[in-house]
Amino acid sequence: MQLKVLKFGGSSLADAAHFRMVGEIVRAESCRRYVIPSAPGKRFSEDDKVTDLLYKCFELALADKEIDETFEKIENRYRSIIEELGLDLSLEKEFETIRTAILHCAGRDYIASRGEYLNGIILANYLGFDFIDPQKYIFFREDGNFDSEKTNIILSAILKEHYRAVIPGFYGSMPNGTIKTFSRGGSDITGSIVARAVNADLYENWTDVSGFLMADPRLIENPRVIETITYKELRELSYMGATVLHEDAIFPVRYAGIPINIRNTNRPDDKGTMIVAHSTEAISEHVITGIAGKRGFSVVTVEKDMMNSEIGFGRRLLEALEKCEVCFEHLPSGIDTMSVVVNSKDIIGKRDFLLTEICRMTEPDAIDIEDSLALIAVVGRSMVKAKGTAARIFRALADASINIKMIDQGSSELNIIVGVDDADYVKALQCIYNEFVK
Ligand code: ASP
Repeated sequence: MQLKVLKFGGSSLADAAHFRMVGEIVRAESCRRYVIPSAPGKRFSEDDKVTDLLYKCFELALADKEIDETFEKIENRYRSIIEELGLDLSLEKEFETIRTAILHCAGRDYIASRGEYLNGIILANYLGFDFIDPQKYIFFREDGNFDSEKTNIILSAILKEHYRAVIPGFYGSMPNGTIKTFSRGGSDITGSIVARAVNADLYENWTDVSGFLMADPRLIENPRVIETITYKELRELSYMGATVLHEDAIFPVRYAGIPINIRNTNRPDDKGTMIVAHSTEAISEHVITGIAGKRGFSVVTVEKDMMNSEIGFGRRLLEALEKCEVCFEHLPSGIDTMSVVVNSKDIIGKRDFLLTEICRMTEPDAIDIEDSLALIAVVGRSMVKAKGTAARIFRALADASINIKMIDQGSSELNIIVGVDDADYVKALQCIYNEFVK
């Protein structure tokens, strides 16, 4: 029999009405056995997320200010869910423990984690599932990194003893037992860890959109939903700024070969996006899978005659960057020029230092920094098989009178990255999207 792990995001558990939808989804299939909740999210756009309120309580207590008003908002969110669902459950004792801890300056992570913890108790009660506290079964190492192997062994063992369980997202514990959270949005990671631990057939990640879109809806009107995407393509797109799933949530399930299905709690009939290891689909309908972009890059160009025959030139250039603690994104090069694309914000206040270091290390003929570069990644596993994809991208940009400042195609042929002037960014995204999709 199939086994599914489900994670519900904050907007899917923001109020009693959403808890009911979640209940219907979970009960619709008996193989939906392990559920990971986030803390209650926003019910409307000006609303607060419980996690943000908890962080606020921490800040207030730290500054020796009153927490009552903020803490009461949190209590009331949970009270109204319990009351409207008609549950025979009281969290008043838990509230008192948490309030006291905050007033005694408990750790920031402990306080933030209580959002998921309390929501988990309610959801377990509502579904009639066991409650498993990840403080005891998800571990971080002394250096603060997640301890995947220890967690997998211990979590697998405990979950074998619980046929159906709710495991709150977002946190685990340090070797000394204190609570540590993942970074924001980290319940996605917990879902993935649980899916691996129980060797699930599918990890369903329920949110408030019907999957990944082919492009940013703020810039492209009504972009299409991506039906299937591979882990590798997703990495490329999310690196360039496309977000729905926490980046680190990919690793545990990818390792175990478990697909992720992004689903919409408000539209449970939509198929959503399937994230898989390898797509068996030959060529996707549009050749490309998605387009993402990022602004705010600078290009440092170093020119030197006969650079190509100077052994160690590239290493010295990169060493200069290392000395200035700047990472690089791309390295487009010519015969006698080498450019380094960096994040503009990484070189704020360091420009002179960087130029001096590069000059010292490479003794160039000329050196220049140009700002306002935007990068656009056109990603698609089908590009390997489709001829003329690059030509179509360049033609679309040329027809829109957009100058291409940089081109980079990974040898995996999974993506083509073009750099354009920041002022052309939105227009460039639109014309590439229209070329392939419209
Ligand atoms: N509640 C946490 C946050 O707001 C974690 C999560 O929702 O995944 O970041």
